[in-house]
Amino acid sequence: MEELSGTVLAGESFAPVRGRVIVEDGRIAAVEETDTDSTDIVLPAFVNAHTHLGDSVAKDAAVGLSLDEAVAPPDSLKHRRLAAADRDDLVSAMRRTLRFMRRTGTVSTLDFRESGVAGARALRDAAADTGVDPFVFGSGDPSVLDVADGYGASGANDDDFAAERAACEERSRPFAIHAGEPDATDIHPALDLDPDLLVHMVHAEREHLERVADQSVPVAVCPRANAVLDVGTPPIRELLDHTTVALGTDNVMLNQPSMFREMATAAKRFDVTDREVLRMATAAGAEIGGLDCGVVEPGRRAALLVLDGDSDNLSGTEDPVAAVVRRATGLDVKRVLV
Ligand SMILES: [Zn+2]
Repeated sequence: MEELSGTVLAGESFAPVRGRVIVEDGRIAAVEETDTDSTDIVLPAFVNAHTHLGDSVAKDAAVGLSLDEAVAPPDSLKHRRLAAADRDDLVSAMRRTLRFMRRTGTVSTLDFRESGVAGARALRDAAADTGVDPFVFGSGDPSVLDVADGYGASGANDDDFAAERAACEERSRPFAIHAGEPDATDIHPALDLDPDLLVHMVHAEREHLERVADQSVPVAVCPRANAVLDVGTPPIRELLDHTTVALGTDNVMLNQPSMFREMATAAKRFDVTDREVLRMATAAGAEIGGLDCGVVEPGRRAALLVLDGDSDNLSGTEDPVAAVVRRATGLDVKRVLV
């Protein structure tokens, strides 16, 4: 048994409670209000809802490039660099990124892994002993589902993904797809595939939002990557009003995969509350990946983040939720418990 004391951001509402979380056998046994001297802040660990860890081999190589030049399949800089990468170098680069993610409070990431079965295997190898358990959306032939947790399609304008979609259905695995990143033309075709997750939806309009609500499709948004690639800003407020929305940091080549940075951007640049942003960084991604974490409540898997509320950065904050969402950095992380 273990006790974590301090200000606990408890339940779906993240209401700050002075007290303690009791962990038994990897699960949260109780959340109790008690007197405590601890200045720690205890909250759910993060689930990053969209990454491409593979392009850890090309960090900062695409500065100034457009979406097509930087990441579009099959001939962009990213795909050339992935094709040229030695397997050991790729695994090592992904492992170092996963270690950084863990140190900045992330315990899982819904990753779109390129390069088929070999790519999915490389990510599993990279993740061993990092403390981050990636949810792997594989690519290529549907047989990738032997190794991957689901299928991640590049976009409905790139190919016909009917066979991959059917393979997911047959094996009860999630099918995810990019949609609405540079423009809206691939959103209806993506929705026609009845996806379990849409990524981006920067150019979603009313007709798309209504379909998303009707079909109950969650959306992963990546506002910093959208800014870097200059494709626009996702309508996060409108998306939240229609479905579950989760936050992702997208390509490692473009941005560091810190959920602190993504949360601060979402909170400061969009019409959303801090609690909505915290949910987008925790419970929403966990729900999409079926991970049973993301909320501090009895019965959940104890994937928890402890911040030092008396760090030079956070001491004196008047709002612990705002401090976590808008101010905190990896330097404030005291402990990540899984
Ligand atoms: Zn992506």
